[in-house]
Amino acid sequence: MARLLDGSDPQAIEAAAAALRAGEVVAFPTETVYGLGADALNEQAVAQVFAIKNRPRFDPLIVHLPSKEMVPQYAAVIDERAVALMERFWPGPLTLVLRKRPLIPDLVTAGLDTVALRVPAHPVALALLRAVGRPIAAPSANPFGYVSPTTAPHVQEMLGDAITLVLDGGPCAVGVESTVCALTEKDAIVLRPGGVTVEEIEAVIGPVTIASASQSDPRSPGTLPRHYSPHVPLTLLAPGESIPHPRKGERAGLLTLAPCSGVEGYSVVEALSKDGNLVEAAANLFATLRRLDSLGLEQVVVEPVPEHGLGRAIMDRLRRAARG
Ligand code: AMP
Ligand code: MG
Repeated sequence: MARLLDGSDPQAIEAAAAALRAGEVVAFPTETVYGLGADALNEQAVAQVFAIKNRPRFDPLIVHLPSKEMVPQYAAVIDERAVALMERFWPGPLTLVLRKRPLIPDLVTAGLDTVALRVPAHPVALALLRAVGRPIAAPSANPFGYVSPTTAPHVQEMLGDAITLVLDGGPCAVGVESTVCALTEKDAIVLRPGGVTVEEIEAVIGPVTIASASQSDPRSPGTLPRHYSPHVPLTLLAPGESIPHPRKGERAGLLTLAPCSGVEGYSVVEALSKDGNLVEAAANLFATLRRLDSLGLEQVVVEPVPEHGLGRAIMDRLRRAARG
């Protein structure tokens, strides 16, 4: 079983950094979700990440850096949009896809000539990245396709037998993955909505294109239609659709944005936020799906959330989770 170490302890950071330098795989907290990290320049270490997650090799990894000053070592082209976005949102939940330099292994980028880079806004992640002194490739620390982990115990439950070390940094504040924004063409493209909103990005660089969520985008091989899925079937209601009554004898769950009254027949009703706040809802999303998944329900009916701000990322995850 993996050792769970307190991420605020400098000795734990040193142990994790040493493991990463030695080519091992380590789980660590970020502000979005927990990551499964490996030295991005060590192909064998990166191969272990794919193996542990059972992640298909066509799905490229995000490379994490301790500061934007390191970007020129790995990205070949850094235009003024990239500079402005890094300045405004790093450290933070925004991943930039840029032309890569050759030293980034093909395995990390799934053979693309671009690399996804991010500086995370979590003290434990930053301390670890500084201590290692190398770029760290890190997808979410969960088996491929399942709900991402937002606490260290989530990682332990799923991957505790496959790795040796988990740094604990408490629950993730943002709770959904980073926004992935490609700057390799004339138009900036949001390939995946996430912790930085489209509105916030557009305020800095002007209008962006948003990639379709309904199909796999060749520019972002990892955006699969079905992902982030609990085992229990999810039924995502349409906006304005009234909440159905469960079938007689059915053990069903209901997931809403804010607490609601007057619904009957559900075995369990969970709200993502006390007052319909999308930031709070995003932070609670994955842990709530996981809890609902553990109850042996026959289905979970999910109310949609408004599709602006963080609601876009929440709806993206819910759609993929519901596609059974
Ligand atoms: P995650 O699943 O959080 O590890 O995020 C990785 C996702 O970022 C992948 O599934 C891709 O959708 C996207 N991504 C990573 N690298 C690239 C890249 N070079 N080009 C386009 N998208 C990328
Ligand atoms: Mg993931």
